[in-house]
Amino acid sequence: MATSPHTPALRASERGRFARPALLAVVTALAFLLGAAACEWMLYVTAREVLRQTIDEELLATGRLAAARLDVAAHARLVREDQLNDPDYVAVVAPFRELLSALPHIRYIYTARQSPEGVRFAVDAALPVDSDGDGVIDQAGLGEIYEDPDPAVLESFSSDEQTLSSEPYTDKWGTFMSSFTPVRDAAGRIECVVGVDSDASVYLGRIAQMRRALGVGLVGALVGSALVGTGVFLFQRSRLRAVRVLQLNEARFRGFFDHGMAGMAILAPTGHWLEVNEALCELVGYTREQLRGLTPGAITHADDRTREDEAVAAVTRGDHDGYSMEKRFVRRDGTVVHADLSVRCVRSDDGSIDHFVAVAVDTTQSKHAKEVILAALRQSEASLRVISQVAAAPALAGGQVEELARLVTEQAALATDIERVSVWMFEQDGAIARCIDLYEHPAARHTAGAVLKRADFENEFAAFKTSRYVDAHDALTDPRTRGYVEPYLRPRGITSLLDVIIRTSGRDLGILCFERVGRPHHWEPREISFGCQLADQIGIAILNREQHQATLELMRARDEAQAASRAKSEFLAVMSHEIRTPMNGVIGFANLLADTTLDTTQLKFVGTIKSSAEALLHVINDILDFSKIEAGHVEIDHEPFNARDVMAAAVAVLQPRADEKKLSLALDWGDEVPRRWVGDQDRLRQVVLNLAGNAIKYTRQGAVLVRILPDSGGFARISIVDTGIGIAPEAQSRLFNKFTQADSSMTRRFGGTGLGLAISRQLVELMGGRIGLESEPGRGSTFWFTHPLPAVEPALEAPAAPVEADSAAAPGAAGRHRVLLADDTEVNQVLIVEMLRRAGIRVDVVADGAEAVRRATAHAYDLILMDCQMPVMDGFAATEAIRAHEATPAGGGRHTPIVALTADVQAATAERCRAAGMDDFLTKPVRSQGLREALRRWLPAAAGAPPAGPSPA
Ligand code: ADP
Repeated sequence: MATSPHTPALRASERGRFARPALLAVVTALAFLLGAAACEWMLYVTAREVLRQTIDEELLATGRLAAARLDVAAHARLVREDQLNDPDYVAVVAPFRELLSALPHIRYIYTARQSPEGVRFAVDAALPVDSDGDGVIDQAGLGEIYEDPDPAVLESFSSDEQTLSSEPYTDKWGTFMSSFTPVRDAAGRIECVVGVDSDASVYLGRIAQMRRALGVGLVGALVGSALVGTGVFLFQRSRLRAVRVLQLNEARFRGFFDHGMAGMAILAPTGHWLEVNEALCELVGYTREQLRGLTPGAITHADDRTREDEAVAAVTRGDHDGYSMEKRFVRRDGTVVHADLSVRCVRSDDGSIDHFVAVAVDTTQSKHAKEVILAALRQSEASLRVISQVAAAPALAGGQVEELARLVTEQAALATDIERVSVWMFEQDGAIARCIDLYEHPAARHTAGAVLKRADFENEFAAFKTSRYVDAHDALTDPRTRGYVEPYLRPRGITSLLDVIIRTSGRDLGILCFERVGRPHHWEPREISFGCQLADQIGIAILNREQHQATLELMRARDEAQAASRAKSEFLAVMSHEIRTPMNGVIGFANLLADTTLDTTQLKFVGTIKSSAEALLHVINDILDFSKIEAGHVEIDHEPFNARDVMAAAVAVLQPRADEKKLSLALDWGDEVPRRWVGDQDRLRQVVLNLAGNAIKYTRQGAVLVRILPDSGGFARISIVDTGIGIAPEAQSRLFNKFTQADSSMTRRFGGTGLGLAISRQLVELMGGRIGLESEPGRGSTFWFTHPLPAVEPALEAPAAPVEADSAAAPGAAGRHRVLLADDTEVNQVLIVEMLRRAGIRVDVVADGAEAVRRATAHAYDLILMDCQMPVMDGFAATEAIRAHEATPAGGGRHTPIVALTADVQAATAERCRAAGMDDFLTKPVRSQGLREALRRWLPAAAGAPPAGPSPA
């Protein structure tokens, strides 16, 4: 903008002049009009005068000419009316007539005399004709009275001077202007007056013409004045507008300059202040008057002076028209303000600098704000880093709260610059808080162990009820921290405090504490959020610790349970051994006894011993089975087998009992049911024997049918149908519970433990099937269960062994075989030796594992029967030693089959046997059938079997 505040303001009068362009235009137009009209009028008047003068002079000259040519003597003689044709008349008239013909605008020339009657015409040059046709002769008669003569005629007579008519006059001959010239005779008397009449129409015509010209001129002046007025109006208006714009701009600049937020100054090229505004004065802290005595350089920060001087020099040289820079002013009080300075120069027409305009904006605040934001950003970044570092710390996942607390306090203090950061945990139901870690920032020191009583910070606890944190900007006066100002805060110089509660699942566990020493600190929301996040992380670590502890507890409980279970298993194994071994002896010897020569009574007694022992063994087996199932020790095989053969064998086993009761027992195998199943044939057999055994037991007459049909969903349904006593509906639902019988009185009638169905149910379910019954008291029962069928019928490795009755075994001769029996129980030794002896096999017997090893390494046995539990060295260790020997050159690379004898048939034991190097195992009490099969397997040439004697079960 070219206008500067020190441009002289427009004067009021000047502004007034431009105020009303319309008025000025009207006034100018009128002035113009009046001037033009006056000029035209004067021109007209002058022209008219000149014209009149010319005509008058011409009239006077013509008059003088006519008078000069008048023959006065002859004229004097013409005194009568009849002298018109006198030679005198002619002589007098002739020169007049010449004049008339020479001067066409002269209409009449005549003479007149003064008489007592008035003025009379004498000679008239006009012809005696009626030229204009008005019936009157143009020529005046001699002596004719001059009616109503022009006063100039009379004046001419009296003054003896030439006169002129004052105005054109009109008579019956027209409008004329006349001159009258007195003519004297020789005596000097006035003879007559010569009148010359000029036709005034020409004159009047010219006058009229001049008037028209005047009118036209006035109209022109009018139009001209209108144009001038309009021009003036438009010009004035545009000028006025320009002036107004100028005024507005000036006002704006003034307002901007005077009231602007930015500091502004006008400076002379010499650098002196011409004008400064209030804002600049405020910016630099000087009054206008004080500034006047200072150069801009004097209030510029020393470090910025050179820079600014160079910029000014560049402008002065004309390199630029201005410069902008960030600079610092030193205020009067010595403080420094930052400003954005912008300077522009305004040049004169000749290019020299007229003045500078400088604008300075205070940026101290924004610079400060920028620094604050940057600091906040840096802190946020640091906080984020700490949070992610803590989140990734193994101590958090591992629940090592103390270690995490050390990390949190140190990192938080370093990230925030807060002097003291600590973690406190509540103890004794929150009655005290114990510091688990305090990090003091400047000293870089960790401490722990301080204790605070809750009673001292009750107020803070009240605050925690509604808020997660207490942000005491001024902790010394904050009501929330009142309790511990004296005992805690003041001695440590703590002024501000931010406490965040560590809270998980609604439990208050502790406090994360930030303490500022020195100047009080206003806690920012971001700091509070940072504290809350860290407190959350500590809470998570505490939860993790609790979880770890719980897991450890669980693991301990599990280990204990496992140990208990192992003890139970051990107990079961021992019990199996301890109970079955004597039972084995009882049954085996009863059988052996029965084979000796006995009388009838003895035979009966032996039979009773045998059946009682078998019943007892049955009960024991049931209890052991059930215990094992309960303890989860039963494992179900998944081997292919011929299910039909298994069923047939079970039926065959029960046949004698059915026969005894005269019941028909039959197996009905549905054609559609595949024979090859996958599962545990022993368990399947056990269930069928149990259910079919019950059917026979609870049926007095009729039949028992074992029927196998396909069931839906890829199952076979095995139904055991009897025509027995049936079961009352109310009893049906609980029959599968252990120790339950339909009728307790029946126990005595029929015997039994009430475990059979419970075992069956568990085995069926373990095999993947279901079990149930339908029954009607007095009409019979149907017990059924399902067993999964294989999707594809599996191939069997070998056809199932032919079903044989126990008693069907025939002794074979295999005397060349030599077997070593290692068993510490005498009963077993005798029983097994007897069985083998009957099969014609030589047996060596030892009572402990060490002896067994000694024997086995000294002799080549075809088979070793090895009891597992023995004194000195157990069967497993002995087997390992034998296998080790066999692997030596002395062993000769042979492999003696070793069959374990064990009362414990659990899978774990079987696995242990195999691991020790055993090839097979036999369950104690050893039965002749089992022994026979083992011999067949391991002494192939000895296809013989022990005699039928000991055949329990
Ligand atoms: P136990 O036969 O050893 O008593 P079980 O569990 O095998 O135990 O049988 C439980 C009870 O179910 C028997 O005592 C008997 O009352 C009843 N029961 C089982 N099978 C039949 C059956 N086929 N007919 C009638 N009652 C039966």
